[in-house]
Formats: sequence, structure tokens, C-alpha cells
Amino acid sequence: MSTKKHFETQAIRTQTERSQFSEHSTPMYITSSFVFDDSEDMRASFAEEKSKDLYSRFTNPNTSEFIDKIVQMEGAESGYAFATGMAAIFSTLGALLKSGDHVVSCKSVFGSTHALFTQYLPKWNIETSYFNVDESDKIESLIKPNTKILYAETPTNPAIDILDLELLGEIAKKHNLLLVIDNCFATPYLQRPIEFGADIVVHSATKLLDGQGRVLGGVAVGKADLIREIYLFSRNTGPSMSPFNAWVLSKSLETLAVRVEKHCENAMKVAEFLEKHQKVNWVKYPFLKSHPQYEVAKKQMKLGGNIVAFEIKGGIEAGRDFLNKIKMCSLSANLGDTRTIVTHPASTTHSKLSEKDRLEVSITDGLVRTSIGLEHVEDIINDLKQALD
Ligand SMILES: *Cc1c(COP(=O)(O)O)cnc(C)c1O
Repeated sequence: MSTKKHFETQAIRTQTERSQFSEHSTPMYITSSFVFDDSEDMRASFAEEKSKDLYSRFTNPNTSEFIDKIVQMEGAESGYAFATGMAAIFSTLGALLKSGDHVVSCKSVFGSTHALFTQYLPKWNIETSYFNVDESDKIESLIKPNTKILYAETPTNPAIDILDLELLGEIAKKHNLLLVIDNCFATPYLQRPIEFGADIVVHSATKLLDGQGRVLGGVAVGKADLIREIYLFSRNTGPSMSPFNAWVLSKSLETLAVRVEKHCENAMKVAEFLEKHQKVNWVKYPFLKSHPQYEVAKKQMKLGGNIVAFEIKGGIEAGRDFLNKIKMCSLSANLGDTRTIVTHPASTTHSKLSEKDRLEVSITDGLVRTSIGLEHVEDIINDLKQALD
């Protein structure tokens, strides 16, 4: 029998050493720094001859516990935790890229990630070329001699398109690129990009990993030598996760499997309801047969996730009207919470883009994005139904 623990057990039975109080649940180590027995202890600790916490900007028992869990759950070698998802993404790019490098990325990425590629990396002479979700056949033609990273998210935000991780892994391997995948919408319970060849997986832990809308956080996991670079970059630039947030998030991971299972069950029922509704043009949910990349989703995901996108008939006005009629669900910018959230990207998060740019990332005027929560599914459906009717 294999001694490697299962996913749920990894999330629960990975624990930092107990203190002299033999606590069952890990305590909080709310301290900025740690003390040494003598000068030799201090020297050896700084020389990394001992694995000992020095200063919480570098490591802390709470952040280490959270990292150890997510490393196992993603099937990675090593990891590092950050104050936010964006800190994880920026530190990964900052550590692994240098002036003159080039990135190839899917165009449908999180808004702030897109801003990194278009506004900030160019300041350090790092350029990015983009492919659309339906242009996988174009990726290889974008690769140049100085291309270092292939970057993508799947499922994408907010249009819930699926990119083929196996294909991305093959392209990255063939051209000797580092494959970086934002696995935020799937979580390691549904999808483990490292199995398909990803070198680094990044997350906003703010979303489903916490899943209760309490804390911000981020994490990067992957190959040990790359994580070491990311760790050294972060230890000097200071985007590390706070011990308190790590304590919360380590607890959150203990319920990830059961939460995500139920999120997906509710989301599937909501997607099926919406697909039959006459005010809805189309529904995008990875595990609906009508999803354009249904086969790919089935190949790489365990379940369809908790985000359901749909297009309401009547464009921008109908979308805003729908939001105004919502009674129970929240209008909020977050996602992956116990509470169901609805947003209308064309009039909010993506209102600054031109219609052409919006359409390139599949955001039509009537697109509504729902993050299905853990309320009883009948109550969620009733709220959406009364707002649609
Ligand atoms: C929210 C989000 C991020 C950024 O995470 P923060 O914790 O808000 O910094 C990155 N990628 C995706 C896919 C996200 O949804």
C-alpha cells in the first residue's frame, strides 16, 4: 500500500511541530523575529546550515505549514507564500525574468496580471506577445529566441474558457520555456497543472483556497530551483504572507475538498437551470456539454469549478437591470466565497476596455459572471430566477 497520503489527508495532517503545550490545532506564531541560543546558533542559521526561522519576512512556522500543505496538494517540490495573489505573480515574474526576456501569454488573464505585462514589465525591457483562447495553434509562431515564460490561466476569468494544459506543457517542453499557470479558478482539488508539465503554479489564495472571503493571500509552487529564486527575490523585496493570514489559510485548506465538491455540485445545477431559461442566450460552464472546450475540461479537471458565466438577452442595460434585481446574492468583486456573487464585467471590471478589446477576451455586453457559493442551491436558483423573470 502506498504511504503517500491522499489529498484530503495532506490538507489536514500536515502540521508544523508542536510547541511545549502539545496543542492539537496549530497555534499562531505572531512574531516578527526569532531568537538564537548563541552566536554559533545565529551564524549557522543565517548560513542556512540549520533550517530555523529567522525573521517573518523570510519564513514563519505558520506560513511554512500553509506552504507545506499546498506543495503536497499541487504535487510540487517546493513553494513560497505571499501577501496577495498579485504579489505571487509579480514575484514569480520578477525573479525568473531579466531585461531583454520575452513572455508569451494568453490574452485572457486576470486584469492586474494583464497590467503587469502591458504597463510594468516593459519598463524593465520585458515584452509580452499574446494569443487568444481559441488560437492555441498560433502559440508556437509567437515564440522568439529570447522567450522565457509561457503564461496562462485556466479556466479563464471572466469568460470561463479552458486552455489545454497538456498542449501548453508540450509546447513549453519543446521550446525550453518555463510554463507558469495561474490555477486560481480550479484549485489543486480539481486540476494539478504540474502533472501536465507546469514549472510553476501560482494562486490567489484570496479566492477558493480561503473560500470564506476573510483574508488576502497568494502562493507559488513548483520546481525547487525556481522556487529558490522566487524565495530569494521575495525575501529581499518583502511581499511575504503575514503569519496570521497563513494560520487562517492553513485552516481553510483543511476543508478545501469538501467545499469545492459542494461548490461544483451547486454550480452544475445553476448552469443547467440557466441553460433552460428563455432570457439567457448561452451559458458557459466547463462541465456542460455545450462548452466549446468540454472535452479538454473533462480531460484535465475533476469537476467544473464554481464559476458560471452566461449571457443575458438585451446587452448592457439588461445586465445592469439583472444586477439591480438580485436580492440575496452579493454584488462584489471577489469570487470563490461561501456566498454567491454576481458581477457584470462590461459595466464594471472591464468597462475601461473598448468593445473590440472586450470581445477579444470574450466579454460580451450581456455577460454575467456568477461565483456560486455554498448556500442551498434552491435559494441561489430562486434569486437568479426572480431577477431574470
Ligand atoms: C484574484 C485573482 C488574482 C489576484 O489575486 P489577489 O489575491 O487579489 O492579489 C490573480 N489571478 C486570478 C485568476 C484571480 O482571480
